[in-house]
Amino acid sequence: MKIDITEIKDDLGAIMNTEFSLDLADRKVQGQEISIIEPSNAELKVVNSEGEYVIMGTASLSLEVFCSRCLEEFETELEFEVNGEIDKEEVEDAEIDVSGILAEHIRLAIPMKYVCNEECKGLCPSCGQNLNEEECDCIMHKVDPRLAKLEKLLPDKE
Ligand SMILES: [Zn+2]
Ligand SMILES: [Zn+2]
Repeated sequence: MKIDITEIKDDLGAIMNTEFSLDLADRKVQGQEISIIEPSNAELKVVNSEGEYVIMGTASLSLEVFCSRCLEEFETELEFEVNGEIDKEEVEDAEIDVSGILAEHIRLAIPMKYVCNEECKGLCPSCGQNLNEEECDCIMHKVDPRLAKLEKLLPDKE
């Protein structure tokens, strides 16, 4: 993704605002398949600074991800701040490429695990049934996960 910086290029200290939609390929982040869907956009400020262009602003993405518990795909929004610099020596013509900076920030902003819903019951580890849709008869689900949580809060028995 390139930004035309003609208007600030010859003026140290000048700032420009730019807004554009992100054209990003689907990617794998922390082992998760992430599909980036429209509309996803960025609002960035570019500052012509000493020796570098400073990029800052925010970006938001619409994503399609998989729930780490039930493995169903769902849509979610991701908003994150962008902060970076591009060395002037790397800049040819009057364009800067912010793809690298954005990719790095996306990688950092994406959580380790997505859950479709805090209440998601996930899959039965024994038969694979999606427990949000239907209970199965496997014994390991006779312990209510909420009770298991409570048990953890109780002081250890001595
Ligand atoms: Zn889920
Ligand atoms: Zn089961």
